[in-house]
Amino acid sequence: MAQKRDYYEVLGVTKEASEEEIKIAYRKLAIKYHPDRNPDNKEAEEKFKEAAEAYDVLHDAQKRQQYDQFGFNAPGGGGFSGGFGGAGGFSMDDIFSMFGDVFGGHGGFSGFGGGQYQQTQYRGADLRLKVRLTLQEVLTGVTKKFKVHKDVTCSHCHGSGAEAGSGVETCPTCHGHGVVVKTVRTIVGMMQTQTECPTCHGEGTVIKNKCHECGGSGVVKGDEVVEINIPAGVSEGMVVNVPGKGNAGKHNGITGNIQVYIEEEPNDTFIRDGQDVIYNLLLDFPMAALGGDVEVPTIEGSKVKIKIDQGTQPGKTLRLRGKGLPAVQGYGNGQGDLVVNISVYVPKTLSRDEKDMLEQLGKSDNFKGDLSTKKSIFEKFKNYFN
Ligand SMILES: [Zn+2]
Ligand SMILES: [Zn+2]
Repeated sequence: MAQKRDYYEVLGVTKEASEEEIKIAYRKLAIKYHPDRNPDNKEAEEKFKEAAEAYDVLHDAQKRQQYDQFGFNAPGGGGFSGGFGGAGGFSMDDIFSMFGDVFGGHGGFSGFGGGQYQQTQYRGADLRLKVRLTLQEVLTGVTKKFKVHKDVTCSHCHGSGAEAGSGVETCPTCHGHGVVVKTVRTIVGMMQTQTECPTCHGEGTVIKNKCHECGGSGVVKGDEVVEINIPAGVSEGMVVNVPGKGNAGKHNGITGNIQVYIEEEPNDTFIRDGQDVIYNLLLDFPMAALGGDVEVPTIEGSKVKIKIDQGTQPGKTLRLRGKGLPAVQGYGNGQGDLVVNISVYVPKTLSRDEKDMLEQLGKSDNFKGDLSTKKSIFEKFKNYFN
């Protein structure tokens, strides 16, 4: 593998570059090396991917900081190149899915313009889904299947929007430029403005004979079953972004993303506290006084035995290390704990015998509350007489 170039060098920016400067630099390179402009040019494709990788790291404050500190060997995950689009590094789909932030906007239009001619590519709208997870699913991560109704590529014209054999033609209005120049009279004189071509909507081409299935858009409504992997450790309100599974873009454009909004199913047994999980354990009075073993449930569904010390007081907490929830994709502090909050059950009704026994026990000094005060008074007396 060739030596990797420094990400700042790739984008041609300084180490102090602002987020905006990084975005602008990347946009320039993405336009220059875009595959549409450089068909069958391996070198351009490599440059395009290299720029996308650099941008992926530098536009994310957390990744950028790690990169500044550790270079390519960021801790906890084999560097940067593997952390995106699987072990093989970047796929073109991943890169296109990033264009949302650079070229602005979900759905509609992304223009790769800026030079002397304008090319545009449609981007399908993102889809939003909600998923409700149990604590157990949060613990392990889960794959969910959704049936989604969305724009899919028209199978009749394979997305071109044209009837077989008819093809596309250069737009007669803009002659393929995608834009038209208008001269308007204003109070400061004549001004020229460039606007999107009204005939081809910036594409530079028109379809001679529109596909009868999709009406020329290249997309139709269809149902698709998508499988989505939800990583372990997610929490209410998080959004998992799944690139390239949303609506298909018109005319074989860029497919949008699916954004999955996470909700948590309320749990009767546990209370989630970040990565920790709280379990309220109610001991009966003899167990708290005498001590012994009790079982507490865990989120994975098993039980663990814990030891209750003799004379355990209500309000005591026990921490079962690592029995909580994992951090999302390695961010955060490993595995959380299961926190057992102990309280003691006091009987609400008593039989006559029980009442007699408790009254008897109540006479013993051991059953008097606030032992510390009694002890200190006793010790004061002892010291007084010595
Ligand atoms: Zn069609
Ligand atoms: Zn046109």
